Amino acid sequence: MKLSDDKIKYICLITVLFGILSLNFYNFEPKEKKIRDIEEGDYVKIKGYIQSMKVIRDWCGKIQDIKYIKIGDNTGGDLRIYPSKDIEKDLIEYIYSYTPSIKEGDLIEVVGTVEVFNGIYLIHLKDLKNFKLLEKRNFKRDIFLSPTPTGIYASKYGKIYHTSNKCPYGKKIKEDNRIYFYSEEDAQDLGYRKCKWCASKDD
Ligand SMILES: [Zn+2]
Repeated sequence: MKLSDDKIKYICLITVLFGILSLNFYNFEPKEKKIRDIEEGDYVKIKGYIQSMKVIRDWCGKIQDIKYIKIGDNTGGDLRIYPSKDIEKDLIEYIYSYTPSIKEGDLIEVVGTVEVFNGIYLIHLKDLKNFKLLEKRNFKRDIFLSPTPTGIYASKYGKIYHTSNKCPYGKKIKEDNRIYFYSEEDAQDLGYRKCKWCASKDD
C-alpha cells in the first residue's frame, strides 16, 4: 500500500489528537491513594482526617489566614494542603459554612498534584472544588470573643473573668487590655475562672 502525503498527514493528525485526549484523560482523573503510597508528581485524590491547621486568627478567634491544613489517614506520614492566596478567603468561608466549623478530626477529601519540599509532602490547592468535607467528626463548638463590650470581661493577660463593672479587681484592667465574652460558658470553656468578688455578687 502506498501512502499519499495527505494520508500521512491525516494519520499524524489522528495520532496527535488521540495522544492529547488520552493525556487529558490521564491528567483529569486523579488516582485515589493512601498517603503512605503517594509520590512526587502524582495526581491524586486523598481522604484524610485533619490533624492540625496552621492558621492566623484575629483577636476574636476567627480564622483570618490559612497557611496549611495537615491531614493524615493512619497509613503513616501526613500531607499538607496549602491554599493559594486567591482561594484562601473562599476556603475560610467554606470552613465556616459548617457549624461548628471544619476543624481537627474532620474527614476531608483533597485532589491535587503531590509536591515534595524538604521531605514534606504537600498539595497546592488552587481550586476550592478540590477540597471538601466528607464527614464531620469534631462537634466541639466554636467560641469567639465579642468585638464589642459585654458584661463579661477579662484581662488578655490573665485567666480570671469578671461579671460586674463595679468589681474593684475588674476596674483595674485597662480598657485596651480587656477582652469580652458572649457568655460565662464561653469564658469557662476558654479556660477562664470567675473572679471571687464577682461570684459573691451573683446572689
Ligand atoms: Zn471581678
